[in-house]
Amino acid sequence: QWARVSGRLKDEVGETAYRSWLKPLTVSELKGGEVRITVPTRFMRDWVLTHYADRIRALWSGENPRVQSVDIVVAPSRLDVGASANDDMGLPGDMAGDLSAPIPSDEVEEERPTSGAQLGLDGRDEHFAHLDPRFTFENFVVGKPNELAHAAARRVTDAATVTFNPLFLYGGVGLGKTHLMHAIAWQIRKKDPNRRVLYLSAEKFMYQFIRALRFKDTMAFKEQFRSVDVLMIDDVQFISGKDSTQEEFFHTFNALVDQNRQVVISADKSPSDLEGMEERLRSRLGWGLVADIHPTTYELRLGILQAKAESMNVQINSKVLEFLAHKITSNVRELEGALNRIVAHAELVGRAITLESTQEVLHDLLRANDRRVTIDEIQKKVAEHYNIRLADMHSARRARAVARPRQVAMYLAKQLTARSLPEIGRKFGGRDHTTVMHAVRKVEELRTSDQSFAEDVELLRRMLEG
Ligand code: ADP
Ligand code: MG
Repeated sequence: QWARVSGRLKDEVGETAYRSWLKPLTVSELKGGEVRITVPTRFMRDWVLTHYADRIRALWSGENPRVQSVDIVVAPSRLDVGASANDDMGLPGDMAGDLSAPIPSDEVEEERPTSGAQLGLDGRDEHFAHLDPRFTFENFVVGKPNELAHAAARRVTDAATVTFNPLFLYGGVGLGKTHLMHAIAWQIRKKDPNRRVLYLSAEKFMYQFIRALRFKDTMAFKEQFRSVDVLMIDDVQFISGKDSTQEEFFHTFNALVDQNRQVVISADKSPSDLEGMEERLRSRLGWGLVADIHPTTYELRLGILQAKAESMNVQINSKVLEFLAHKITSNVRELEGALNRIVAHAELVGRAITLESTQEVLHDLLRANDRRVTIDEIQKKVAEHYNIRLADMHSARRARAVARPRQVAMYLAKQLTARSLPEIGRKFGGRDHTTVMHAVRKVEELRTSDQSFAEDVELLRRMLEG
């Protein structure tokens, strides 16, 4: 039966795609009308699920009405079963021959796709490259800090034609980049299920690439990335310093943009601030629309808390929400975490949420949020410590006696604040980001070679962290 199903598939999808995606599948019919398809990698499972599952399912039930469900599972490889059978980052060893090897049932259990990944013949295939169902536009609260990024994300899903390419979203951790990317994917998918949208982290991209190199399978790798309508790569800063991955990414990127396919990228910094990225890639990443997400404001935090409390179906005194919005300023992830904690606590002990209980439950978090070190404080403390003038933090003097403390201050600014290298440079008398990078390296170097220097720096750090 599979022979007939796959024959039909081959006619439908063409020889190339068939060879890349469908030929490596191993199929067995199990009892109870269950069909199990085994694929060599997790990535392939996702791909097959996203792109071919509906057809496989339809063709199969056409062939045999008794078939109840089609399961797609990943074959454990011989070398790393156990260690990383459940680990996307593991790089399995030589898998040749494994495709036909019998699969121990317990490992198959482990690799069984969870909830949405299973294809019931009646249900829709909701599995879509690990998209979080909560990360939709409906659940995204828009405020001043994220309105540009949000509008740009919406535009990508609205436009019939590509208006800017790539869309580059950047901002600090926990500010909603991944949420927006998933929202884009969901929305495109909703509007047109036939559009092939691929979302993955840069980390995953790298591992897929390395894997392809290892299996001498780069053709399939290229083909899979270059045949999508929309490619979304999250946290692209991950491939900083990873030269061959960058190279491959650059080509993939260009191939897609040349074909007018939408590319969406996120990172923790703007393209020009991405250190360890090849110059041509950095400049290419900035060609489309670059939209930053700013740190949250009080209004946005309050809005998010209200929306979240509502979706959790809990009534919380507005004073408590205002208190949280005032106090938890770091990012949205922590804010959500704080809310979850007080709700969970209230349910557990069976008492209402009050300002007092909130302070008690969150005392550690509240303390941590109080301790936001600024570059000004760092400069002041370091200047005091080394007994130099504060003005020398900004001056052009290069004497060692002032240059070294300045480097220490730059280093601490990098370590203790979320500021980027160029931002730090600006705070130190308008120095270039390469100067800051050099300072960071120098201090790191000295810390390993000079014990007393290392202790000095450690002491300063502790004083600043409070
Ligand atoms: P990032 O990828 O920028 O590190 P995430 O997208 O993972 O951040 O967001 C962290 C958490 O905060 C997620 O649970 C996300 O849903 C939530 N979040 C961030 N921004 C918003 C927003 N504007 N409205 C609602 N939830 C948000
Ligand atoms: Mg993220």
